[in-house]
Amino acid sequence: MRVLVVGSGGREHALVEAIAASHLEPEVFAAPGNPGIAKIAEVADIPADDLVALRDFAKSRNIDLTVVGPEVPLIGGISECFWEEGLQVFGPSRAAARIEGSKVFSKEMMRHAGVPTADFEVFDRPDRALDYLRSKDEFPIVLKADGVASGKGVTVARTLEEAEEAVRETFGGRFGAAGERMVVEECLLGREASVFVMTDGENILPFLPAQDYKPIFDGNEGPNTGGMGAYSPLMWMDPITYGRILEEIIRPTLHQLALIGAPYSGLLYAGVMVTESGPKALEFNCRFGDPETQAILPRMGSDLLELMLATNEGRLAGREIEWSADKAVCVVLASEGYPESSHSGDEIQGLGNLPAGVYVYHAGTEERDGRFYTNGGRVLNIVGTGPTVLEARARAYAAVESIHFEGMQYRTDIALEAIELEEI
Ligand code: ATP
Repeated sequence: MRVLVVGSGGREHALVEAIAASHLEPEVFAAPGNPGIAKIAEVADIPADDLVALRDFAKSRNIDLTVVGPEVPLIGGISECFWEEGLQVFGPSRAAARIEGSKVFSKEMMRHAGVPTADFEVFDRPDRALDYLRSKDEFPIVLKADGVASGKGVTVARTLEEAEEAVRETFGGRFGAAGERMVVEECLLGREASVFVMTDGENILPFLPAQDYKPIFDGNEGPNTGGMGAYSPLMWMDPITYGRILEEIIRPTLHQLALIGAPYSGLLYAGVMVTESGPKALEFNCRFGDPETQAILPRMGSDLLELMLATNEGRLAGREIEWSADKAVCVVLASEGYPESSHSGDEIQGLGNLPAGVYVYHAGTEERDGRFYTNGGRVLNIVGTGPTVLEARARAYAAVESIHFEGMQYRTDIALEAIELEEI
């Protein structure tokens, strides 16, 4: 069996590692991959958004299954592109991937399906959006560019001025075509969770939930990033709440997508706010989350590749995922200037001899003459595992402290509140 993983981040490194460990003993390829992935898979230098080149590669290497990490190729229609040639993909169709590709589509789908979510309005003109905001007397309020903008298209505005600025920036072209429409929605209060399910459109196979940390600085200060850390599982999420997320958010969404002729297959990710009045959907993503995946897959006892094949073949009914009792904490190391700018070419020291229970997933790294250098953005993901969050976290941060590169940034409060909950 030959498997191709598309993408180059920490998420794809964790996916490649889990797929390579399958009892099906696959030969694993990655495009474009990264230096960490290159240690366990054959990498091909093809960008993740070059759908035709990826398809030609998959055909020429007789790939049996292509697993797509990032959203951009899925939203761009990689599944259809591969299916036309009889190639198998783990991931949704372009029509179903709109659940992430358009926030307007996603919110309207939720409204039709009766999925609990923040109240919202859609605008396609800045003057109407500004009039609406000026009529509001309750802040904060949340503003979202319609299309994907790598986590930067969402503003939680604390004042009217901040909200007006977000409208001007979005309609002013900061996000290109992604900013031609906007969603303005109620700000929800509560705890956030990332919930993944594998689904063939009908049956669902839930993963244990995780939490990610989007802002760059401790205490959730500063601009949003792709994600600065994560932990799993969530001791604060009780089984009843989790069951409600599956029944009130995930299932009606899958039903609605099937109803409009866009049945979903692959990994569906719901970003959820658990509020005082129950769980509400913040957003959907059409793929595994990064960095949650890095904090989830090391704990998975089941065969990931086998489950992906079962998803595609409609054999998910009656299955369950086995999990280790360990906890996992992932800390992201980012380059200097991230997320506004990004620095490359700084040598990374301390990557050898990491202790047991620690996993390192590469993202923005480069290898030259056996040495590793930063290659911008988020550079490395350091995952600690252990029987308690306290131990998992201590392992992750001990490893972080033994690694160094110029301008290295990381949050020091990943999973901190989980320790406090563990102590109760
Ligand atoms: P992009 O489309 O730019 O890549 P994204 O898909 O990451 O962004 P969301 O997940 O919808 O965007 O929002 C980012 C973050 O903003 C959420 O993780 C959450 O913390 C916050 N957020 C979004 N919507 C709301 C809301 N209605 N109330 C409170 N916070 C919210």
